[in-house]
Amino acid sequence: MYQLDTYFSQLGNKQEPSTGAVTYPVHLSTAYRHNDLHESTGFDYTRTNNPTRDTLEQGFAAIESGAGCCATSSGMAAIQLVLSLFQSNDEMIVSSDLYGGTYRLFSDYEARFQLKFTYVDPLNIQAFTDTITDKTKAIFVESVTNPLLKQVDVKALGDLLKERDILFIVDNTFLTPYLLKPLTLGADIVIHSATKYLAGHNDCLSGLVVAKDEKVYASLFQSHNASGGTLAPFDCYLLMRGLKTLPLRLDRQVETAKRLAQYLRAHPSIKQVYYLERVQ
Ligand SMILES: *Cc1c(COP(=O)(O)O)cnc(C)c1O
Repeated sequence: MYQLDTYFSQLGNKQEPSTGAVTYPVHLSTAYRHNDLHESTGFDYTRTNNPTRDTLEQGFAAIESGAGCCATSSGMAAIQLVLSLFQSNDEMIVSSDLYGGTYRLFSDYEARFQLKFTYVDPLNIQAFTDTITDKTKAIFVESVTNPLLKQVDVKALGDLLKERDILFIVDNTFLTPYLLKPLTLGADIVIHSATKYLAGHNDCLSGLVVAKDEKVYASLFQSHNASGGTLAPFDCYLLMRGLKTLPLRLDRQVETAKRLAQYLRAHPSIKQVYYLERVQ
């Protein structure tokens, strides 16, 4: 087994047999020629499959320990893709502290498509237990919430949902798999706005969804191909390029945050510093 750092730094490398290119190329072609009738190369049309996107998706699924990954055109497209797993009158229990865009999308789905969302404090595990009913189809939390930075106990929620037919969905944008891997703690689906730490250079709007289970992934893949919010090949390349340095960047950011917290704590004009020392 390689170290997680190696998975990041080697993502997509040395996987191009025809030229031996070390870094995976950007395949911009939208359509693919078949060798003969019924002889597809495995690639037909880019919305369905693209070699550059496949490389990103397979590499990131391995990093998150999932069965498969869908790379989407934004973090919100990733969340909308996950909502496509549900139908009217399904109920979801969701964190009361959520990214504003997620809350807006949930409100819209509630008003127009009759999905029901119940909001609970993500730090109160008992509140989730008390709110689950026969109609509960999913639980959705952010591992560290945006904006209030609450650190949610993903493992405790994973344990609570064991043996229950409820999808546990975690938006892991703020921690990234370098700091937390929700699928190893009982989550079924992980979502990212890859626009933030993962791509890391403020030049690539992108999202990722990883499913632990092959069947859930197959459903997501089907909706992704049907609705078409796929990540463009050049952005897949930028995202892979960003991911290669994620461990280095995050180590430095964690170190800087620690020094900043120490400085602010010692400052006479500062009353209180909110600083999350360690993740689970
Ligand atoms: C930014 C963000 C999103 C939305 O992602 P976009 O890439 O901006 O569409 C979703 N969840 C969280 C936690 C975010 O911070």
